[in-house]
Amino acid sequence: MIKPEAMAAGHAGKILDMITSKEFRVVAFKYTRLSALEAGAFYAVHKERPFYGELVDYMASGPVLAAILEKDNAVADFRTLIGATDPAEAAEGTLRKRFAESKAKNAVHGSDSDENAAIEGAYFFSGREQF
Ligand code: ADP
Ligand code: MG
Repeated sequence: MIKPEAMAAGHAGKILDMITSKEFRVVAFKYTRLSALEAGAFYAVHKERPFYGELVDYMASGPVLAAILEKDNAVADFRTLIGATDPAEAAEGTLRKRFAESKAKNAVHGSDSDENAAIEGAYFFSGREQF
């Protein structure tokens, strides 16, 4: 998912270019906006964290681009491409190093396991939207 501040800053095209040039195949794609309720559900695993309220408000603050991406070793390779949560710790050449504003507003979301990728993909896309 390309997060709201990166969409507002006009980074979507460059981010997609970097993703597709790493051989991720787009299975599904959608421009959409999460309500606060939906953002809260999407990040429910962080409910007890001190930044949860800020995270929910931020993720509901504007439209996002959601995608399902396919590749061998997709979860690990995508997390390598996006870089560390905090852009100050993200490696050169990563999406967050280049586009993130802060640890909170960090441009891109990536699933952290195959299991969560399936859950998160199903959250945004019906079967007939996946190709
Ligand atoms: P990641 O997105 O790298 O998997 P986490 O799952 O730990 O990171 O956190 C989810 C999201 O919550 C982060 O991408 C970021 O937007 C936000 N976040 C994480 N840690 C903080 C923090 N300390 N302060 C504010 N926001 C945070
Ligand atoms: Mg995470």
